[in-house]
Amino acid sequence: MEETKESMNDVLIIGGGPAGSALGCYLSKAGISNVIIESGNHPRPHVGESMVTASTRIFDEIGFLEVMEREGFIKKYGATWHAPSNHGKVSIEFREFPQPGIHQDYTYHVDRSKFDLLLLKHAEELGSTVYQGMHVKEVLFEDDRAVGVRVKLADQEINLHAKMVIDATGRSTLVGRQLNLIKKDPLFNQYAVHAWFENVNKGKGELADHIHIYFLPVKRGWVWQIPITDRITSIGVVAEKEVFMDSRLDLEEYFYKHLQSNDNLARAMRNAIRINEFKAEGDYSYSMTDFVGNGFMLVGDAARFVDPIFSSGVSIALYSAKFAAERIEAAFDKNDFSKEILQPYETKLRNGADIWYEFISLYYKLLPMFTLFIQNNETRLEVLELLQGEVFDRESVPVLEAMRHYIKVVENSENHLFKEQLSDIPIPENDEEDIH
Ligand SMILES: Cc1cc2nc3c(=O)[nH]c(=O)nc-3n(C[C@H](O)[C@H](O)[C@H](O)COP(=O)(O)OP(=O)(O)OC[C@H]3O[C@@H](n4cnc5c(N)ncnc54)[C@H](O)[C@@H]3O)c2cc1C
Repeated sequence: MEETKESMNDVLIIGGGPAGSALGCYLSKAGISNVIIESGNHPRPHVGESMVTASTRIFDEIGFLEVMEREGFIKKYGATWHAPSNHGKVSIEFREFPQPGIHQDYTYHVDRSKFDLLLLKHAEELGSTVYQGMHVKEVLFEDDRAVGVRVKLADQEINLHAKMVIDATGRSTLVGRQLNLIKKDPLFNQYAVHAWFENVNKGKGELADHIHIYFLPVKRGWVWQIPITDRITSIGVVAEKEVFMDSRLDLEEYFYKHLQSNDNLARAMRNAIRINEFKAEGDYSYSMTDFVGNGFMLVGDAARFVDPIFSSGVSIALYSAKFAAERIEAAFDKNDFSKEILQPYETKLRNGADIWYEFISLYYKLLPMFTLFIQNNETRLEVLELLQGEVFDRESVPVLEAMRHYIKVVENSENHLFKEQLSDIPIPENDEEDIH
C-alpha cells in the first residue's frame, strides 16, 4: 500500500534512541505532529550508559526528570581516574560546580534498554506517534529536498511522506551513508570491548557511584567502570583499533589481558563474574560534512560522534534534539524548510561538539596534564564545567587555551618531566575564532 501525500506528516523522525525521542518530546510540546520510526523493539541493549550533568536540564525541560527519579537509576555524583600503577587516582564531585538551571548535584548511570524505552514512551505520552519494528530503508528526495521515507514492514515496502525528515539513526548514519556525507575522524579509530559483571569491587562510599576510568599503558587505552544497578557493573576496554588487531587475541582474551595492566582495575575485578556476552564497537569517530539540508536534519550520533572518554554522547544527542526543535519550529512558522532556515542548528551543534573534540584531543595528547589541571585550584572548576557538559553557546573556553599553552611549553622544553608522555596526536591550530 502506497501512502498518499494527502496524509502527509509534519515531521518523520527515524530512530527512537535518546536523540529521536527527545526531539519527539520537544516537537509535541511545540504542537508539531511527529512520527518516530524505530527499527528495533524496545527494550533493546545499547552502549553509552553514563551521563553528564548537563543532561538534567533537558530532562527537566521535557518533563522527564521525574521519571528518571522515580525509576531509581543509579545516581552519579562524580568521576574518578586511576593511573596504571602506584594505585594513584584523582576524583571530582559535581557538587563543586553548580550549573545554572540544574538543581541536583548528580546525574545518572543507566541501563540503556530501560532508559531508552522510558524516553520513547515519554515521547509517545507527549504526542509522538511511535512505530517500532519498522526499518527505514532510505530517505526519499524530490530534487534535493527530503520528502519522506521508504520503510520496510514485514515483507512490504511503504512510502511515508512528511514536510521534514530527521535522521536520528545513531551510528547507523542512514542519511550520512545515503548522501555520502561521512568524514571519518583522521585521529581516532578506537575499538571497545564491553560486558556486564557482578561482584565488581566498586570501592566504598561515594566512590562506588562514580564512573571510574582506568588508564591503560597502550595507545589511547582506558577502561570504563559504570554501575548499572547495585549488583551489575558495566566494564569496557577501549584502545586504538590497532592495539586489538596487533594483539591477535579473541575478544575475551583481549579483555582480560588489559584488566591486568592497571593495578586498581585488577583489584576491582578480582572476583568479578561476567553475566552477558562481550560486545565490540569500532570505527566510531566521524563527522558528517552537513548536518542539515533541504527538508532534513541529522541529530545525535547520526550527525557526529566524538570519542566517549568523557561520556558526552547522550548529552550531545539530547542537546541536538533541543536545538533541532528550535529550528524546526522556525521552519514551520515560516513554512520554509530550506537548508538556510535550518543552518543555525548545525552551527550551534558543531561548535559545542568541537569543544568536546578539542578537549578530548588535548586530553589524549598529554594524559598527565589532565590530572594536573584537575588538581590545580585555578583550572579545576573550568575543567569540571567541561566535564559536566557545558559546551554549548560558549564564547570562549580559556582552559582549553591554557592546555594548548601547556603542551607547547612541554614540547619546547628539553628536559620536561612529561616530554616522553606527549602522544602523536596533532593539535589543530587554535580555531577559537571559528566559534560563532
Ligand atoms: C564504546 C562507546 C561507549 C559509549 N559510552 C557512552 C557513555 O558512557 N555516555 C554517553 O553519554 N554516551 C556514550 N556513548 C555514546 C552513546 O552511545 C551515543 O552517543 C547515544 O546513544 C546517541 O544517541 P542517538 O539517539 O543519537 O543514537 P542511538 O542511541 O544509537 O539510537 C538510534 C536508534 O535508531 C534506530 N535505527 C537505526 N537505523 C534505523 C533505521 N534505518 N530505521 C529505523 N530505526 C533505525 C536504532 O535501532 C536506535 O534505536 C558511547 C558510545 C560508544 C561507541
